[in-house]
Amino acid sequence: MLTGSGLVLGGAAVGALSPGWARAGTDPFPGSADTTAGAAVPAVQVGPGDARYGALSTGFNQRFSGTPAYVAVVTTADQCLAAVREAVAEGRRITVRGGGHCYEGFVSDNPGGVIVDLSGMRAVGQDPAGGVALQGGCTNWDVYELLYKSYGVTLPGGSCYSVGLGGHVVGGGYGLLSREHGLTVDHLDAVEVIVVDADRSVRLVSARKGDPDTGDLFWAHTGGGGGTFGVVTAYHFRDLPAPPPVVQLATTTWQWSTLDPAAFAILLGNYGGYLAANSAPDSPARTLFALLRLTHVSAGTITMTTQVSGDDPAVLDGFLAALDAGMPAGAGPTTTRRVMPWVEATQTLDGSGPNQRGKYKSAYLCQPFPDRQIGAIWAALTDPGYSNPQALLQVDTYGCRINAVAPDATAVAQRSSIMKLQYQTYWTDPAEDDVHLSWIRRFYQSVYADTGGEPVPNGITDGCYVNYPDVDLQNWPALYFKDNYPRLQAVKARWDPTDQFRHAQSVRLPGG
Ligand SMILES: Cc1cc2nc3c(=O)[nH]c(=O)nc-3n(C[C@H](O)[C@H](O)[C@H](O)COP(=O)(O)OP(=O)(O)OC[C@H]3O[C@@H](n4cnc5c(N)ncnc54)[C@H](O)[C@@H]3O)c2cc1C
Repeated sequence: MLTGSGLVLGGAAVGALSPGWARAGTDPFPGSADTTAGAAVPAVQVGPGDARYGALSTGFNQRFSGTPAYVAVVTTADQCLAAVREAVAEGRRITVRGGGHCYEGFVSDNPGGVIVDLSGMRAVGQDPAGGVALQGGCTNWDVYELLYKSYGVTLPGGSCYSVGLGGHVVGGGYGLLSREHGLTVDHLDAVEVIVVDADRSVRLVSARKGDPDTGDLFWAHTGGGGGTFGVVTAYHFRDLPAPPPVVQLATTTWQWSTLDPAAFAILLGNYGGYLAANSAPDSPARTLFALLRLTHVSAGTITMTTQVSGDDPAVLDGFLAALDAGMPAGAGPTTTRRVMPWVEATQTLDGSGPNQRGKYKSAYLCQPFPDRQIGAIWAALTDPGYSNPQALLQVDTYGCRINAVAPDATAVAQRSSIMKLQYQTYWTDPAEDDVHLSWIRRFYQSVYADTGGEPVPNGITDGCYVNYPDVDLQNWPALYFKDNYPRLQAVKARWDPTDQFRHAQSVRLPGG
């Protein structure tokens, strides 16, 4: 039922956005908790003994299940303010849950504290100045469904529908349209964020791009990472792209049994070589995005999903031909291709997978894989001492429009990479933790053995992705943030001077 000019909550529009959304301390989504019946959804505190407590204290990654004093589930910015005020008054540490997809225990690991859960804040709206606004509890699903169906635009966000914008955007989220349209944060215009002052007063601030007072707080939300500066109740975007009406989706499969070290090296060399030649900001191949899943040999196959905007086959044909160049006879892949509406592809691609235990590591790569790294990757994926079809190195294409932005324009400093690597392994039995953690640590250490076991920024590798956090990293500030870290620390000092919002890898106060 439409009752206003376009605020959509769970499929029901509930009123126009306030023209005053940009004013500090105002709720950009007045009445957003109203249902079509007009009743506000109350905030709830879920504590031990409540049937919901276990589920709400556990992340998507089931390695992390916490013991907070309670989980505060909120449905409006006002409720969120009240929840933060109460926690601060009680002297409890606050962690924030958006979509719950953190790779580490940054949300759950809060014994005796308060988890503020924004998953009831999922309104999508249009602001009078022409942008769109999304509440802090929205998921990619809300973006791809509600934003697209209501306004015909999208965010170049991640491939998994259940990921929350709460952490995704503030970490610099990217996805299948990012080579064509940049990162999510490249379109960010303002954030509504609850902060805690030095005197422990709590307020909602509208931080806007370029604003002399709040511009730095805004900038910190363009890649500084979640759970670090405050609670984001809403993101505002401007100049969002329209997605292509249709896309080509290709699934390519190589049989491990047809590959030897030489063929594997040719394949990875071809992949990197293609990207080195086709990742300039205006490259015609910016419409292409591929996810190469180098699965452990026990899976039997290596697979790749490629999406290309539109139905012209030229870019996809050229890419697949480039990957096949020089491959031995018999090591060629099979590929199935389909053309489908873009919005259907967002659902077809869903990479969320089941909730399991998992461990992840990441790296940016500015050049094709060095030969020594290819050898280390082959060795880890064919390690006879390890067997897990759910263990892999995923190599995503990167670059093009992402690299049209200066390293200090947003908090995402990595603006010259052509690939983003994600090391992953999944399992279900806690008794197996050591086996899987040990394998992925050995794998990573061996690939970056030349640079101290980490992908340091050196023109070949370029650090790590803060949205794929990894508590094993020793020098995480430099790996995640490079030269932007001191500025992030200055923002922290001004806007979270008591370090209220902190976790194992949150930006430290200066000197910390
Ligand atoms: C299956 C899967 C697929 C993924 N695919 C992609 C992808 O394609 N592209 C990509 O870029 N990333 C991807 N990611 C990584 C994803 O971007 C991060 O895990 C992201 O931080 C998740 O945000 P969340 O709100 O769901 O998680 P949460 O666990 O709720 O939060 C993650 C961090 O952000 C903080 N946070 C959450 N909400 C808020 C808020 N409202 N205000 C302030 N801080 C907040 C939390 O405190 C925590 O520190 C994927 C992750 C998973 C598990």
